[in-house]
Amino acid sequence: MIGTDPTLGVSDSHEAKLYVLTGPAGAYFPTGFKPISLLADSKFVRAFPGGVGSFKMGCNYAPTISIGKIATSLGCQQVLWLYDTDEKITEVGTMNIFIYWRNEQGEEELITPPLSDGLILPGVTRNSLIDIAKSWNEFKITERYPTMEELRCGIKEKRVLQVFGAGTACVVSPVDRILYKNQKTKEYEEFLIPTMESKPDIMQRLYDTIVDIQYGKIEWPGWTRTVA
Ligand SMILES: *Cc1c(COP(=O)(O)O)cnc(C)c1O
Repeated sequence: MIGTDPTLGVSDSHEAKLYVLTGPAGAYFPTGFKPISLLADSKFVRAFPGGVGSFKMGCNYAPTISIGKIATSLGCQQVLWLYDTDEKITEVGTMNIFIYWRNEQGEEELITPPLSDGLILPGVTRNSLIDIAKSWNEFKITERYPTMEELRCGIKEKRVLQVFGAGTACVVSPVDRILYKNQKTKEYEEFLIPTMESKPDIMQRLYDTIVDIQYGKIEWPGWTRTVA
């Protein structure tokens, strides 16, 4: 949506044009899931409290392009966005993040950051995955920030089963590696995540359920309706 008033200057607009682009989306993973690797460096920040990180505004994305290039130069495909000195895990690239692990209490848990402080884009896919997982009623579902230290500890103790991004285009995107810049030592540390090997494969099951709903193979009350 762009302001179209015939003026030059920084002010609110009285006229605007809203463009809606539509197009068919091909199969995102035609040959099966392709896991991605992430650069995690808390020097880079995607969104701030009081900012507009929870809205899909162009200004949130332009500053991430050059950081994405740094990630590429280090052999990573996406950025894992951390926030604050405790390195809260917020989002991955332009996706919401989910971690499926056994938590420190030994419970199986699907965890994703909360929508309460304006840092997180409230993705439709995020919401759908939470609803579907809740309907299974098989493990704990928690909306809170995991920290990088918790994730690192979980990986060391082999409690982290799956890490994946969630967004409309791909539905889910598995993560198999994180390159972490330790701010104290200034060294990079590499963490491997067994997302593709873990059982149960929650990510695949969520993906299959969403795609089956999209193709009308299964009904989901409130989500599916006949239009013609
Ligand atoms: C688009 C987007 C998402 C995912 O939203 P969906 O509605 O599921 O497509 C998550 N995080 C960010 C930063 C995004 O731009």
